[in-house]
Amino acid sequence: MACIFCEIVARRVPATIVHADSEVTAFRDINPQAPTHILVVPNRHIESIARLTRADGDLLAHMIEVIGKIAEQEGIAERGYRVVANHGEDAGQSVAHLHLHLLGGRRMGWPPG
Ligand code: AMP
Repeated sequence: MACIFCEIVARRVPATIVHADSEVTAFRDINPQAPTHILVVPNRHIESIARLTRADGDLLAHMIEVIGKIAEQEGIAERGYRVVANHGEDAGQSVAHLHLHLLGGRRMGWPPG
């Protein structure tokens, strides 16, 4: 079965894309859990954060940098935001393509549910 996030990266499935470059794509979550809820994904299919190795260091750093830029664009950089990566069943990962959630625009609770 085709990976939904690969389909979004390839523009075969529509999404509200807020950033795209040769390495990563960022788009608004279809079921937002905060006023700003954006997913940042590598263009290359990687199953989850658990599959990253040191060789992916530049990619991961770039993803974090892109998150910082989007947070500025969204006006949430100063007040703060949360970055989440779910891996596996207990964490509730529902799409098997690495994605970092950028959540902001409201006060977050801790511990997370
Ligand atoms: P996770 O549960 O960490 O795997 O997160 C997957 C996220 O992808 C969820 O927050 C979903 O709402 C979101 N999602 C699933 N399909 C789409 C889609 N087609 N466009 C945008 N977001 C999606």
